Amino acid sequence: METVNYDVVVIGAGPGGYVCAIRAAQLGFKVALAEKYDVLGGTCTNVGCIPAKALLDSSEHYHKAAVQFGTHGIDLEGLHLNFQQFIQRKQEVVKQNTSGLVYLMKKNKIAVHHGLGSFVNTHQLKVGDQVLQGRYFVIATGSKPASLPGITIDKKRVISSTEALSLPAQPASMIIIGGGVIGVEMASVYARIGTRVTILEYAGSLIPTMDQELGKALQKSLATLSIDIRLNCQVQSAVNTGNAAVVGYLDKDGQQQELTADYCMVAVGRRAYTAGLNLAAAGIETMKSGKIPVNKTLQTSAPHIYAIGDVIEGPMLAHKAEEEGTLVAEVIGGLTPHLNYNLIPNVVYTWPEVASVGATEEQLKASGVAYRSSKFPYMASARARASMDTEGFVKVLVAAAYNEVLGVHIIGPRAADVIGQAAVGMAHETTAEEMYRICYAHPTYSEALKDAFLLGAGKSAINI
Ligand code: FAD
Repeated sequence: METVNYDVVVIGAGPGGYVCAIRAAQLGFKVALAEKYDVLGGTCTNVGCIPAKALLDSSEHYHKAAVQFGTHGIDLEGLHLNFQQFIQRKQEVVKQNTSGLVYLMKKNKIAVHHGLGSFVNTHQLKVGDQVLQGRYFVIATGSKPASLPGITIDKKRVISSTEALSLPAQPASMIIIGGGVIGVEMASVYARIGTRVTILEYAGSLIPTMDQELGKALQKSLATLSIDIRLNCQVQSAVNTGNAAVVGYLDKDGQQQELTADYCMVAVGRRAYTAGLNLAAAGIETMKSGKIPVNKTLQTSAPHIYAIGDVIEGPMLAHKAEEEGTLVAEVIGGLTPHLNYNLIPNVVYTWPEVASVGATEEQLKASGVAYRSSKFPYMASARARASMDTEGFVKVLVAAAYNEVLGVHIIGPRAADVIGQAAVGMAHETTAEEMYRICYAHPTYSEALKDAFLLGAGKSAINI
């Protein structure tokens, strides 16, 4: 068996792994990237962020054509959805992204080894018929969909988001277990194109980990798409009956209920993935959750082996994985990078989009911090009125003592992009006054931030 020597061996080519590999190569290291599948990009590029956003965009176009184009004076006759093309375009978007990654690996002279990586000992990883010998290793093996006790995702009728992104035909009905980010995004995709969607959520609100006002506003918004949202439901079973899925659950009053649909999509979170990696040979143990424990510089219990992304603790987000990939490459390179985990934005790509950064109102209440909460509605934004996207608001949470911005929570048009501006400000510990004194282009969706910060600084907004 051939042994190849590298400075840094990265295991897993998702956003954590490929960004880490690129940054390490930029810093002058000889880098290998091991990837189990034939394509690069991991969950995010192949069966996560990118395909989900492609279908969200297509379904939003269709929905707007059906319900809003007439108001713009655009008359369409015979509107219909070609579902095969809908899925095909998504696949092409994925391909553009995965091909781009092949180019980036070549450009940065990163050696890509396809095959399952498995530790032989603390300094050697077997991939296919080669052994990659490394001074440093970075585990970026990501996560896989989780399920509930007693529910098997058979990938036929009881499916995960992976299958929901590539169904063979448009379903007439779909039950989604879980009203978190993935659940509400896929619910939006299918409801917009006419599938009857029911969400069963265990908690008392949608997207329960975000600021609760966002969940409530999103619930109202999704109800306009005729999504049947059932909260406080405890799902007990989901069974493939051949041509349908039957879901059994206890409703909010503890009554036993049963629902049938073409598909049941299980979206109850994801579990860290280390199968086949043979961590024992590297002397690394996982936690009960399956995650790999790391210290502040993301070192595992073996000091030359690091772990990043979904496989360690923290939000399971592509941009979090990417930042950790950069951080580890720079730590290995002798730099002193810093990652502020409080300022990782959280985004839901429904329409209107939902985005937040910093502390939620619930967190501030629990920690006893004195704060002021202010809200500016998109109804009062000229840009939003021009595009008929007036649903939602910008909510800012400001420290009562020094006016520092502690949290920004948005439901509204292009919230995913607008939140970046708030994050930049918060990274510099700005006050609400400093934020409203910035000149925002007119008319833009981000202008809503200015008015929200004016209110947050205890002043009057201009536009309400
Ligand atoms: P992954 O992307 O999971 O990559 C891990 C890679 O490691 C995989 O390619 C895997 O094949 C490989 N691997 C595993 N074991 C081995 C081994 N032993 N040897 C070699 N290779 C191995 N996040 C966002 O920030 N924004 C979004 O909009 C968003 N949307 C999402 C939508 C959906 C439907 C889903 C499912 C997820 C979404 N996410 C989103 C989450 C995001 O995809 C993950 O947080 C991100 O992919 C994690 O990156 P990672 O590099 O840690 O792992």
